[in-house]
Amino acid sequence: MALARRGHSVVLLEAFETPRPRGSGLLLQPSGLAAMRALGLKEAILARGARVERLEGRDLAGREPMRMAYSTWRPGAFGLGVHRASLFDVLFQAVQAVGIDVRTGAAITGFDALTSPTLADATGRRHGPFDLVVVADGSASSLRAKVRPRARAPIYPWGAVWANATAGPAFEGALRQRYDRSEVMAGVLPIGGGEVSFFWSLPVRSMETWAAGDFTVWRDRVLGVWPQVEQIVAQFTGPEAFSQAVYRDVSVGRWCAGAFVLIGDAAHGTSPQLGQGANLGLIDAVELAARVEHPEDLPRYQRVRRLQTAPYQLFSRALTPLFQSAGPLGPWVRNALFTPLAQAPLLDRIAATTLTGMFRLGLTPPDLRP
Ligand SMILES: Cc1cc2nc3c(=O)[nH]c(=O)nc-3n(C[C@H](O)[C@H](O)[C@H](O)COP(=O)(O)OP(=O)(O)OC[C@H]3O[C@@H](n4cnc5c(N)ncnc54)[C@H](O)[C@@H]3O)c2cc1C
Repeated sequence: MALARRGHSVVLLEAFETPRPRGSGLLLQPSGLAAMRALGLKEAILARGARVERLEGRDLAGREPMRMAYSTWRPGAFGLGVHRASLFDVLFQAVQAVGIDVRTGAAITGFDALTSPTLADATGRRHGPFDLVVVADGSASSLRAKVRPRARAPIYPWGAVWANATAGPAFEGALRQRYDRSEVMAGVLPIGGGEVSFFWSLPVRSMETWAAGDFTVWRDRVLGVWPQVEQIVAQFTGPEAFSQAVYRDVSVGRWCAGAFVLIGDAAHGTSPQLGQGANLGLIDAVELAARVEHPEDLPRYQRVRRLQTAPYQLFSRALTPLFQSAGPLGPWVRNALFTPLAQAPLLDRIAATTLTGMFRLGLTPPDLRP
């Protein structure tokens, strides 16, 4: 959309037969909201989501290793919890309004050359040739290894299960999490329309066992950790209400080769522990359109974007085991490090700048500044 608005002729190739969102809810940070504003879509997404003023995470002993108010970063700032379908609708309506050629049922499987490539999809159709190919096929990207053969994207040992429910005013205004050491992490994110996303962290290797296990035993376990979510959990009749999510730690080296550039999770996917992935992807898109006229502009685009995406990947890698792991070390480090961080002046501002997605966003074009 951003490229089309700058006069480029754009073809969008999507694997799904019908355009549709996947997953449950996500948190748009001030950085992602700035990207939506740059696309002229901020008001539309605000109307569909729920304002999140703070992040709160408490363990069973009452410690609060996660406590951040968006206003610590800037008075009046907030995040926005949204249903993925809402973000998808707002973006897709805008894509349709600019008249992009959207081709669905086009799961791209390969291409013939790195410059002026023609792409092939799984049904044998050919698309192109194109001057520029923006590879935005997510963390499990099938094109990434063809563009950058040495790229790696191992799956994190822990993932999560997610489901949406309705909830009362007690869950408005904040992303709330509960921890029991690092083996239990549960969360409730308001996503607009009186709904919340509920998530529960699980080792990837236990997901199938969880799905086949006794649901009432699991429900009792949740309520033992967090009795206040009773009305939310009561709405789930079984594991089939949940989507399972795994995360990948994507390392690509250079994101570009010839006419190809990787963006979003395909380039720098990580665990959602810091709630940044969709925000970074939106900024990638806005910046790409602003900085890239020809494939020769791609290396500079990557240099500038990496200044922001690299530290977030590093933080996510380092912090994820403190919130999702087995054993006593992770939670001990988390509590020792984060409990004072949330309360000390200056340190709390640094933490807030990081969580709002604004860390190292300063070099972006002015229309991304909040
Ligand atoms: C449990 C969980 C919670 C999260 N919470 C947050 C959060 O709170 N905040 C946040 O900012 N981020 C969050 N994220 C991360 C966020 O979802 C991702 O960073 C974001 O969706 C990445 O967007 P993307 O467009 O790069 O890839 P995707 O959203 O994965 O989209 C990829 C698209 O490419 C299509 N596709 C795939 N393969 C092909 C192919 N071969 N040919 C054609 N099309 C193809 C897919 O159908 C899909 O439409 C979370 C992720 C998870 C798993």
